[in-house]
Amino acid sequence: MVTLETPLGDVVGGRTATALAKAFDMRSVGDLLAHYPRRLAERGELSDIASLRVDDEVTVVADVRSVADKGFRGRGERREVVVSDGRASLQLVFFGKGKYRARDLQPGRRGLFSGKVGEFNRTRQLVHPDYQLFPADATDDLPGAAGIDADTYAGRLIPVYPATNAVRTWAIAAAVHQALVVLDAVPDPLDAQLRVRRGLLPLDTALRAMHEPADRAQWAAARARLAWDEALGVQLALAQRRRHAGAHPTQARPPRRDGLLAAFDARLPFELTAGQRDVGDQVAAELGSERPMHRLLQGEVGSGKTVVALRAMLQAVDAGGQAALLAPTEVLAAQHARTIEAMLGPLARGGQLGGSDTATRVALLTGSLPAAARKTALLDAAGGAAGIVVGTHALIQQHVQFADLALVVVDEQHRFGVEQRDALRGKAAHPPHVLVMTATPIPRTVAMTVFGDLETSTLAELPAGRAPIATSVVPASEKPAWLDRAWQRIREEVGTGRQAYVVCPRVGADAGGSADGAGVEDDDGSDEPPDDDDTGRRPPLAVSDVAPMLAEGPLQGLRLGVLHGRLPAEEKDRVMRAFAAGDLDVLVATTVIEVGVDVPNATVMAVLDADRFGVSQLHQLRGRVGRGGHAGLCLLVSDAPGGSPARERLDAVAATTDGFALARLDVEQRREGDVLGSAQSGRRRQLRLLSLLRDEDVIAAARTEAADLVAADPDLAGHPGLAAQVARLVDDERAEFLEKG
Ligand code: ADP
Ligand code: MG
Repeated sequence: MVTLETPLGDVVGGRTATALAKAFDMRSVGDLLAHYPRRLAERGELSDIASLRVDDEVTVVADVRSVADKGFRGRGERREVVVSDGRASLQLVFFGKGKYRARDLQPGRRGLFSGKVGEFNRTRQLVHPDYQLFPADATDDLPGAAGIDADTYAGRLIPVYPATNAVRTWAIAAAVHQALVVLDAVPDPLDAQLRVRRGLLPLDTALRAMHEPADRAQWAAARARLAWDEALGVQLALAQRRRHAGAHPTQARPPRRDGLLAAFDARLPFELTAGQRDVGDQVAAELGSERPMHRLLQGEVGSGKTVVALRAMLQAVDAGGQAALLAPTEVLAAQHARTIEAMLGPLARGGQLGGSDTATRVALLTGSLPAAARKTALLDAAGGAAGIVVGTHALIQQHVQFADLALVVVDEQHRFGVEQRDALRGKAAHPPHVLVMTATPIPRTVAMTVFGDLETSTLAELPAGRAPIATSVVPASEKPAWLDRAWQRIREEVGTGRQAYVVCPRVGADAGGSADGAGVEDDDGSDEPPDDDDTGRRPPLAVSDVAPMLAEGPLQGLRLGVLHGRLPAEEKDRVMRAFAAGDLDVLVATTVIEVGVDVPNATVMAVLDADRFGVSQLHQLRGRVGRGGHAGLCLLVSDAPGGSPARERLDAVAATTDGFALARLDVEQRREGDVLGSAQSGRRRQLRLLSLLRDEDVIAAARTEAADLVAADPDLAGHPGLAAQVARLVDDERAEFLEKG
């Protein structure tokens, strides 16, 4: 009997099983069959070569047009093969011995070609691609005649799988075929009634059709069924978790009329916006209830989330508890602590001369505090003298104790690991209330799925008097004069007393090694090395190169500071303070400034190699300027040629400041999963088919069914198949998030 649990090695042979385990961590037949084709290619239909993007791992169907052997640096030879889809062409390059392997590539042959798209002399190419040719003549089905397994491609539709250099798509297709032939009928965990009501295929039919569909309609139906299963699994887990959360009350922290919060409101120098008031009321009510708050507060950069969070923290302190504020970086934590102390004034000087009676204390706890400061902060946290404790994840990794942790505020949650949040929640006697803040807008379905049962609130309006940010793309190589003009603009702003940022993707070699992890991300999670000479692309600009270049060149005479993640913490803090105090004119920095840095006097930002950043990241970055009522200007400097996808992305960022529109664009362009960082990329493994953008209906329907199922049968005892599915989901290390998130 062959089931989804059967070890792969029993079905596809040892060598293939080993390769699949190594490449994709597949152990069982079920793992293999859960590796779905990315798309279907048609034997009779060629791929659209013009749409290929540099750095993509691709498999294309194309015709061989020409073959030529060329000299190569005086030794050896290279074979250049041009393949075409009838419109655009792609170069295949084989060096040295590889060229002999490529001898069957003859003009007129059609096949599948797999590799990573590179660019050399403005020509897109695949270096040493793997390939499989279709039989030379459509009627020539002699097995092996053309190196292709006729059986694998018996159908007109060719499944194209996510593949690696070691395991190509055709190898996967062959393994899947072998497995499907011997697989016994797969039982369906869904009630037939529900299945029919939702118009879904039986699981067995869907699994087979997913890999070897008779036609595209059948493939779509198979996807719909399997996507439904993903949606239902997640929603069942969440429904169970909601039930569980409701069953574990925490301590209510109701507001007080005469406490810190009231005193704070009385000394606020501005009016709260309507949104800040509404969300504030909502949060106040939730803090005052025994059901632990789980709220996600999203709002554009500069919409004033910090005030909302601070007011919630003061309510917690008024009720005798403590609040922890977690920031993604030390720079930001230190800045938060300073801002909060400044806003609180005498209210933050508990036990000190000039402090008010109700005053509390703000403790800053970061990884790199001097021992004495650290000891004081730890004591204040443990003894309860500090009502507000601000820190980075050091706050939780180290042995910090709280007297009574009532509220955890997490700033820019998408930069924060799941484990860290869990650890912090483990520090409270009662489950703390949780408020998560993010400036990256999250589509509703993502909130519903990735963030589980977090309720969401949005600060839609910016505080009055906020000047708009203008954004322009500066095509540095096409229009060098524009770049000169950009530097000149920075000089002009500084001339009128304003300040500027220059952002680079990389720290640079002088600062000791590779990027600080805050800049350029992996494009697709492939384990391929980053850009190198092969692609003809230079490495991204680095702070350590750019800063001296500017100091000696276009920004000569201005006071320049350098900030990046690899500086010692005191140095970072010193630079940030100097910039905030106006002692520096220009800050040359990596994306350490991306999140939350608030220097209202900064009005202009130049992002160098802007195409190396994600859309949301650019949006975040430019939110650093124009915060003080002076108009902001963001210059996206890039070599990306006009019309290229990279350039189009930049144009889109320049064209709108609507964070929601950009978030959608980001999701579309970077593939879902990368947008929200680890939380979502983890979930991506669970959600292979379900699209958080397009499948809102499916997600909503699954949510309804899940709620009904769990209400009727909390442990799913009557649905062992579904219970097992949820257990697998929750077992997954990433589903820790679902469990405790
Ligand atoms: P966010 O964290 O949402 O990006 P902040 O909370 O840092 O935004 O607020 C940005 C700036 O706006 C801060 O300087 C803050 O003091 C100020 N601010 C907040 N709320 C208001 C308001 N209602 N009116 C005027 N200024 C405000
Ligand atoms: Mg903020």
